[in-house]
Amino acid sequence: METYTIQTASREETTELAYKLGTLVQPGDVLTLEGDLGAGKTTFTQGLAKGLGVKRNVNSPTFTIMKEYNGRLPLYHMDVYRLENSDEDLGFEEYIYGEGVCVIEWAQFIQEYVPQDKLSITIRHKGDNQREIELQPAGERYITLVKELLS
Ligand code: ADP
Ligand code: MG
Repeated sequence: METYTIQTASREETTELAYKLGTLVQPGDVLTLEGDLGAGKTTFTQGLAKGLGVKRNVNSPTFTIMKEYNGRLPLYHMDVYRLENSDEDLGFEEYIYGEGVCVIEWAQFIQEYVPQDKLSITIRHKGDNQREIELQPAGERYITLVKELLS
């Protein structure tokens, strides 16, 4: 699987990349977001939401598992960390296979619900303001999306 790596040197650069992605996503797109605490997952999601036209402020969904925002398309921001080792079915399929855009943090904890085709995004801390953002598209739709994003 091909991966694309982008270096950002500031919060703003990460936001800008995510914003552009937000302008390009389509109904049903699934994105997973991985990275340590402070890597920039929330920052990235905020930029993506802006690009989607979400006006409300996006913050971490840790204590709610899923937050829905309305933009050009619905945005479903999920943080399923608390579902580790749990068999709880919170109706993910409705969102994941719905008409909105899903951003899933800690997707490995609900692996059985996460489609094979998706864009996996990993953010790595490289210095105070340096981050490495790895994009791994699985499936034609996401290869196209990444090419548009980087063009
Ligand atoms: P997470 O949700 O992964 O825990 P946050 O997005 O909440 O991370 O926090 C990332 C922090 O790192 C913010 O304080 C942000 O300003 C800072 N930061 C510094 N450089 C960058 C960068 N290049 N990209 C994203 N965030 C950055
Ligand atoms: Mg966060």
